[in-house]
Amino acid sequence: MSDPDVVVVGSGPNGLAAAVTCARAGLSVTVLEAQDAIGGGARTAELTLPGFHHDLCSAVHPAALASPFLRAFGIRERIAWRIPEVSYAHAMPDGPAVLAWRDLDRTVAELGAPALGGGPADAASWRRVLGPLSDRVDAVTRVAFDTLLRVPAHPVDELRLGLRALAQTPSDRGAPSQPLALRGTRARALFAGVAAHVAGRRPSLAAPAAGLVLAAQGHGAGWGVPVGGSQAIADALTRDLVAHGGRTVTGHPVRAAADLPRARAVLFDTSPRVLADVLGDRLPTGYRRALVRHRYGPGAAKLDLALDGPVPWRDPRLALAPTVHIGGTAEAIAAAEDATARAPWFAPPPEHPYLLVVQPGVVDDTRAPAGAQTLWAYLHVPAGSPLDPTEPILRRLEAYAPGLRDRVLGAHARSAAELARTNPNDVGGDISGGAVTMWRMLARPVLSPRPWATPVPGVYLCSAATPPGPAVHGMSGWLAARLALRDRFGVVALPDLGPDIP
Ligand SMILES: Cc1cc2nc3c(=O)[nH]c(=O)nc-3n(C[C@H](O)[C@H](O)[C@H](O)COP(=O)(O)OP(=O)(O)OC[C@H]3O[C@@H](n4cnc5c(N)ncnc54)[C@H](O)[C@@H]3O)c2cc1C
Repeated sequence: MSDPDVVVVGSGPNGLAAAVTCARAGLSVTVLEAQDAIGGGARTAELTLPGFHHDLCSAVHPAALASPFLRAFGIRERIAWRIPEVSYAHAMPDGPAVLAWRDLDRTVAELGAPALGGGPADAASWRRVLGPLSDRVDAVTRVAFDTLLRVPAHPVDELRLGLRALAQTPSDRGAPSQPLALRGTRARALFAGVAAHVAGRRPSLAAPAAGLVLAAQGHGAGWGVPVGGSQAIADALTRDLVAHGGRTVTGHPVRAAADLPRARAVLFDTSPRVLADVLGDRLPTGYRRALVRHRYGPGAAKLDLALDGPVPWRDPRLALAPTVHIGGTAEAIAAAEDATARAPWFAPPPEHPYLLVVQPGVVDDTRAPAGAQTLWAYLHVPAGSPLDPTEPILRRLEAYAPGLRDRVLGAHARSAAELARTNPNDVGGDISGGAVTMWRMLARPVLSPRPWATPVPGVYLCSAATPPGPAVHGMSGWLAARLALRDRFGVVALPDLGPDIP
């Protein structure tokens, strides 16, 4: 077979996005993947028992539904989605759970309902903070993507919404990371559960900023899950790639330049460190040093369960939400996250850790045999931690779902260290491709108007270690591919990505 025009190293959502974009421009593309299956952070497999389909990494997809690349690709039309009416729920230690409905009015009404433990301050402040953002959720999403992509396509929106986010985000040390205008224990806890998707020290500017975008999307396009699991997203991209002449090779780790076929452009959907190792002293010393010193955040330790039935939540309303946050009050979550981020690698988790839980079966019955369910949960741990999360997660879940242990048919646990071994992009178990701080979101991995380009002509970095950062959106791959198309092949027009083209 002749040498391809383009080689992509790694088949995560960003690698596949880059590959599809180049193939759609008429180039021959080969994707080299170290693992034995395509998809990176968008894989689904029978991890525990036959018939139980678990998302290995990503499970819930507000970013995919909002992504300009995946919208152009037609991801809503190409695969089946379940968009839950309850985007996410927050389990409270003493009192009814708090629910974030897609419907903002319903969310506000419940936050204010005394029978559900609510009060007027919670309700009014949720509307005050989320109302304007939810009304203009497309603009909020554009700001999130555009600002990080250095493409101020809508400067007025960006300035206005950026100032709003900043005004609501405290920077005084010691305060929990919360929009300042949020009042009431329940509204603040509900928001803290979303902001804690960003691991790291508290207070933080980046966590509430990301939380505002995610919470607004919860009242917008929603926190959808693909029917069958996240693999559906990777498979749709792969099908399109192959239909346009591209090919994928699995079980092909790229460790050195000699592992690469000759090509006019090589895009690395890898960690910056892998790029530094593969290209070695072909890279200028300063750039190479920046790649090696790219800063990472805390790790995640994940548990997948096969259950013989639904989770026996003490509060049955938690069964309405595919995504459940456990962590107590905003202050408790901030304290647990901060302690974890500052702890040494061998430290045990805090007594009451924050848990992110996904029970996709509440909206998608294809994940398990009839009546059964799958559950996915992770907690944040210090980078590189070897901690088996089974006991800490089960203990925490059992407090909110007594009897859960008796429902477990099978379990599969991965420590942060194991996550990193399975996918070298998750350095130390950091699932975000690098620390999520305001500075590291801009200098990702270097501060540059073209952070996807490297000093070596024809070599690009396109993973979540480049803007706009973590989540399944394919934007980093798309942006890197557009640079490669222009620089290396003189292709300026954006290739059509729509599903109606074969
Ligand atoms: C446990 C977990 C839960 C998550 N939950 C969500 C969620 O619910 N929603 C969401 O939007 N995001 C979630 N994420 C984040 C999301 O999965 C990532 O941000 C996203 O997958 C990043 O895409 P990527 O293409 O940059 O890299 P990845 O998806 O990590 O893919 C990189 C690929 O490159 C391969 N590779 C690396 N090095 C080499 C090499 N040297 N040679 C060949 N191949 C190589 C890897 O094997 C891998 O397949 C989660 C991540 C994890 C780990």
